[in-house]
This record gives sequence, structure tokens and C-alpha cells, in this order.
Amino acid sequence: MEKVLISACLLGENTKYNGKNNYLKGIEKLFPICDLIIICPEVMSGMKTPRNPSEIQNDKVINSQNKDVTHFFHSGAALVSYIAKENNVKYALLKENSPSCGVHKIYDGSFTSKLIDGQGMTTRALIKMGIQVFSEKEIDFLIQKLTNQ
Ligand code: SF4
Repeated sequence: MEKVLISACLLGENTKYNGKNNYLKGIEKLFPICDLIIICPEVMSGMKTPRNPSEIQNDKVINSQNKDVTHFFHSGAALVSYIAKENNVKYALLKENSPSCGVHKIYDGSFTSKLIDGQGMTTRALIKMGIQVFSEKEIDFLIQKLTNQ
């Protein structure tokens, strides 16, 4: 079975910055058709939960206390990339809007809830490796890919 990276918070893990999750209704549809590899780049990099929210500003990641936390995001991306490479992963389903996992949209860095086009740091790294990254809103496309093989 194909191995697929998945954001832990989509499965209901309380890894989100505010200590909550982003459980995705219908995520169970993936269980019989692939092997899920659960990742949370921010927790894996050593960040605590709950933690201050962070946003990307140009090539840096800054938290709401104006602290530069870029190194955490780089190390989370590197760890996930390593796991992807070791497992020959071709697909990922990640949480939209996150500074790590965002696929099409991220917050603009002003902490005013404004979204712009862009990808999170881990998503950028995975795309560079040639992995197809889907947001949770695109789960049906991923299911199609997995069932048409
Ligand atoms: Fe979810 Fe990704 Fe944020 Fe972790 S880093 S809580 S997996 S969106």
C-alpha cells in the first residue's frame, strides 16, 4: 500500500498551537487504502503545545511575541523530509493555512488573520522533493490517486 504523510492534527491529535486539533470528518476513508505516516513538524522540532502562534514573514518565521522561531520550522521540515525519503513517500495530506503544513494559503505575517497565497515550510520542502501535497480540502483528489493506481 502507498505510504501517505498526514498532519497529526487532522487525525484529532491535539498538536495545534492552541492545544486543540483540526479533526477532519471523513478522514477514516483513508484508513483502508493507504499506510498513514503521522507527522507534526512543529511538535517534532521540539516546540511545546500549547505554544504561541507563528506566521511566515518573508523567509523567516516569527511568533506572536515577535520571536524568531525559524530554526524550529526548518528542523521540522528537515525531519519530515527525512521520513518521507526513507519511506519512499509520494503523497501527503496536510493542514491548510499552517506556517508548517499550509498547501495553498498561509497567513500574511501580520497576525491579523489575513491569508495570502503560499506554502508552509514543511510543504515547501516536500514539494521540492517531488511529493504531491494535498490540503485537507482536497482529500477526494488524494483518494482518487490512491484508488486509481
Ligand atoms: Fe497540524 Fe502541521 Fe500545525 Fe502540527 S504543524 S499542528 S500537523 S498544522
